[in-house]
Amino acid sequence: MATVESYDVRSVDRGEVLRYLGYAGQPITPELDARIDEVVARCLAACRPRGSWGVFDVAARGEKGGVPVISLAGTSLELRGRSIAEHLDGAVAVGALAVTVGMGVEAELRRLSLTDPLTQVVFDAAGTAAVERAADAAEASVVADAASRGLFCGSRFSPGYGDLPLATQPVLLAALDAQRALGITLSRELLMSPTKSVTAVVGLFEQPRGTAHASCAGCPCRDFCVLLRSGSTCRG
Ligand code: SF4
Repeated sequence: MATVESYDVRSVDRGEVLRYLGYAGQPITPELDARIDEVVARCLAACRPRGSWGVFDVAARGEKGGVPVISLAGTSLELRGRSIAEHLDGAVAVGALAVTVGMGVEAELRRLSLTDPLTQVVFDAAGTAAVERAADAAEASVVADAASRGLFCGSRFSPGYGDLPLATQPVLLAALDAQRALGITLSRELLMSPTKSVTAVVGLFEQPRGTAHASCAGCPCRDFCVLLRSGSTCRG
C-alpha cells in the first residue's frame, strides 16, 4: 500500500545547482551569482513536490538467466541485476519511492527553452536539485517507517544506475500508483514526464548500514526528518 505525500521544499543545495551547471570552481561574477539565486527562487515557487512511497518485504532472492533477481512481497516489482543485488545484500525489506516537482516546472522549462535558453539551463539545474530534495523527503518517510519496524535504511538506488534496468520503471511506478497519484507517465523510451521526477529503492536492514544516515548533521533527509523532530534518531 503506497502513501502519497506533499513536501515543503524551500531550498536547494546551491553547490548542487552549480555542479549541474558544470561549474568546477571557476570564479562567478556577482551578477551571475544574483541571477542564479533569482532563477532558483523562481523554480522553487513553481515546484509542487509530491511523492508516493511504500515498503515491501523481500519475498525471495533468485536468478533468472544468470542475473540475480530480488522479488518483493505483495507486488509484481522485481529488482534485477548484480549492482542492486549487492546494494540490497542482507536487506529484509525494500522501500520504493517516486517523487516529482510537478507540471508547473515542466511548463516553465518548455516556455524558457523557446524564450530564454540561458535562463532555462539554470532553471533546469534548479529543478533537478529540487526533485532530489523531494526524494530526500520521501526517503525520510521511508527511514521513519523502517525505524518503526526496528530496521535501518541504506542509501537510494534508482533504475538506470549500475545494471538495474530502466525497464524496472513501469512496474515500480505501478506499485506506487504514481500515474494516478502523482501524474508521472513514461515515454516509450521509459523516460518520465514530468522530467523532474525521480524513482528509487532503499534497502531496510536489521543492522545499521555503512555510512547511510550515519550522522544527522550531514544527512540529506534532515530537513524532513520526523524522527529528529520527535527527539529520536534512525540509529536506534
Ligand atoms: S536526520 Fe538523523 S535521524 Fe533523520 S534520517 Fe537523517 S540520520 Fe536519521
